[in-house]
Amino acid sequence: MEPGLCPKCQSPVTEVNAAEVAIQSAHRAIKGVSLSCGNCNTVLAVTIDPTLMRNQIAAAVKQAIS
Ligand SMILES: [Zn+2]
Repeated sequence: MEPGLCPKCQSPVTEVNAAEVAIQSAHRAIKGVSLSCGNCNTVLAVTIDPTLMRNQIAAAVKQAIS
């Protein structure tokens, strides 16, 4: 599969830079990660911190089975 092209610099996106960001919602801030083009650093996506999500799922499962 061919790598996608950055919408700004049109380079194939073969690697991205990750940075921690705070995702603000009406009630609280949660930890997130922004993913930027490895060539021009334009932000391509922001997602919830996968480690945080994993820990929350693990805690919920633990609570459900105890
Ligand atoms: Zn780019």
